[in-house]
Amino acid sequence: MQMYKSKRKKRYDSLDWFRLAAAALVVAIHTSPLADVSADADFFLTRVLARIAVPFFFMVTGQFVTAGFADRRAGGMPAYLKKIAVLYGISILFYLPLGVYAGHYKEISFADVLRMLVFDGTFYHLWYFPACITGVLLVYGMCRFLKEPQRLVLAAVLYGIGLFGDSYYGLAERVPAVMELYEAGFSVFSYTRNGIFFAPLFLLFGAWAGESRLKDVRILWAGLCVSFVAMCEEAFLLRHFELQKHDSMYVLLPVVMFFLYKILLESSFTLKSRKSALQTKLAVTASTWIYILHPAVIVAVRGAAKVAKVKALADNSLVHYFAVLLLSAAVSYALAFFFMYFHKKSRRKKAGEHQDSGSRQVRTQDRRARAWLELDRGALRHNVNALRERLPDFCRLMAAVKADAYGHGAVLIARLLQEEGVDAFCVACVKEGVQLRKKGIQGMILVLGYTHPQQFALLEHYRLTQTVIDHAYAVQLNAYGGTLHVHIGIDTGMHRLGVRSSCLEEVVNIYQMEHLAVDGLFTHLCVSDAVTEPGRSYTNAQAQAFYRLIRQLEQQGYSPACIHMQASYGVLNYPELAGDYARVGIALYGVLSTKEDMSRWHGLLQPVLSMKTRVATVKMLYQGESAGYGIRFTAKQDMKIATLAAGYADGIPRMLSEGVGSVLIRGCRAPVVGRICMDQITVDVSAVPHVEAGDEAVLIGRCGDLEISACDMAAQAGTITNEILSRMGARLERIVV
Ligand SMILES: *Cc1c(COP(=O)(O)O)cnc(C)c1O
Repeated sequence: MQMYKSKRKKRYDSLDWFRLAAAALVVAIHTSPLADVSADADFFLTRVLARIAVPFFFMVTGQFVTAGFADRRAGGMPAYLKKIAVLYGISILFYLPLGVYAGHYKEISFADVLRMLVFDGTFYHLWYFPACITGVLLVYGMCRFLKEPQRLVLAAVLYGIGLFGDSYYGLAERVPAVMELYEAGFSVFSYTRNGIFFAPLFLLFGAWAGESRLKDVRILWAGLCVSFVAMCEEAFLLRHFELQKHDSMYVLLPVVMFFLYKILLESSFTLKSRKSALQTKLAVTASTWIYILHPAVIVAVRGAAKVAKVKALADNSLVHYFAVLLLSAAVSYALAFFFMYFHKKSRRKKAGEHQDSGSRQVRTQDRRARAWLELDRGALRHNVNALRERLPDFCRLMAAVKADAYGHGAVLIARLLQEEGVDAFCVACVKEGVQLRKKGIQGMILVLGYTHPQQFALLEHYRLTQTVIDHAYAVQLNAYGGTLHVHIGIDTGMHRLGVRSSCLEEVVNIYQMEHLAVDGLFTHLCVSDAVTEPGRSYTNAQAQAFYRLIRQLEQQGYSPACIHMQASYGVLNYPELAGDYARVGIALYGVLSTKEDMSRWHGLLQPVLSMKTRVATVKMLYQGESAGYGIRFTAKQDMKIATLAAGYADGIPRMLSEGVGSVLIRGCRAPVVGRICMDQITVDVSAVPHVEAGDEAVLIGRCGDLEISACDMAAQAGTITNEILSRMGARLERIVV
């Protein structure tokens, strides 16, 4: 069977990588690499082309930061502002000596200091940071008090005012009253290219471009070419008539930026999942440092060139430019590596704080007081990698963290997975998605099940992606009003949720709905666990039906965006059905639904979860005495029994009572005695030496040479592992080891 590759990969990789190009353009602005070629060429490169760089940075910020607070989610903005303030602070300190050396601070007044800090920056490129802070705050205010069109108009008006203090100043100058106003302004800031007049429009544009439904890449490219050529003409005309006071702002710059940004959003490229997440992170951090450090590198390169008497290196030239760029990049990458290493370490420490020594040990011991789950981080990582290895590079994991991550603890697991580069999650219901977002989980969160129309606002508010369950449901979603992001579920034979794959018109109609952003198309296989003939042909028929629908859609000019079909068993038994995502659940947790499957795939996966409790008390049960509810058990001879501090309310099936279940204590097996209670279990410890109150008892997991797997427990209880895990009690402590 043919593997189906769709065009859409991870959404924002290309944005992240374009930052490096933007940083290189900023370096060009400050080194004029073509100055010795021709003045026109240099003007084109540094005053026209390179002017896209900073607006680009603002737009990325806008898309991610303002998208966060436009729906009044607080967390995003303060954290972002803090980060920018810290970077600004570091940069100010770093450039202090250079500024002193260059004589910037001679005879400056308090007003000058304020002007520098709030508008101009304390070194020529550092204006960007205060502009970011001012801009984000302004835009935050706009989002609080204005509707989207009004916001854009206000930001455009501000930009217009900025234009006449920048490239079009020559015109403003001709009207004395206007000129006076601008002169007054210039006593407060040196340029109108700042956080008030320049940043807000691009910040809002970033958020807006992300939402815009214009997706045809050919139209976008045409728009970019036309607007860019027009902007060049605008710039050269302005220069010809000597109207420019400064040259960062053009009428057409926002238009060019819109098309450019949209193209980057729409034509993301494929990267290897795990490595790429790291490389992309590095590129993002490095581009920031290139921005911050390159002026210092310019000074260093000039200085070194003068000492060594290499003229080409000292003067503005391509040689000088590349020397500065490469050196800046090298230092910045080194810094990025350094930060990543430390960040990882500190995160480890945070996540592991429940198992460390000292005062923390007390807390850990507290949490292991009664009944708890131990989650093996290494096993989870192993499973992530094992599953990724079975999939082609373009297919990413979408972790199924529904039902509290199959009982493991959704927030905990999602955080650990995020560290492994997983950036897509699926949940069963809106509430689960909201919980993850509130705890700061980023990336896509797909709600697989039904969401009541009363809760549609939550979908929008928390940026959750909803599954379209059928056509009528799509109509309801569309009627909500605000744009909702959806994946269309396709029913190819399970007959649970989804639009029938034969109903092409219905699917097309959903794509046309005005308020739905269709980000994907998926189906669910219902016998992919079967490896025998009827199951295989049913699964292949499901896949064919899905592919047929996609072909028909494409013939009608619709791109399905991203597609996905496999769950855990799909990845194991049908790796060739890989799409853009594989929605993996049970296998991620290192187990499979049945014992037989577990032995078929022996060694591939490692169980993440162990369930443990403590011995509350040990006592004798003398011959003829009964124990537990219903006096179902009577001792045939004298025996030692232990009462454990966990019961069916913690997720142990009551089915495992007398004669079925057992637990592990001190490396020995202890069979269950009598009926399992809500909060206690009694076990026979006659054969366990030295058992005493406070001992650990393992309900799921290893103990010495013995093991009880979740699959064993499921088999004993006559169900599948999935049910056992997803019913793990809410009152269990969950501890990462
Ligand atoms: C639960 C679920 C999954 C994950 O299934 P596993 O078999 O646990 O990997 C995938 N897709 C859908 C639609 C689901 O409901």
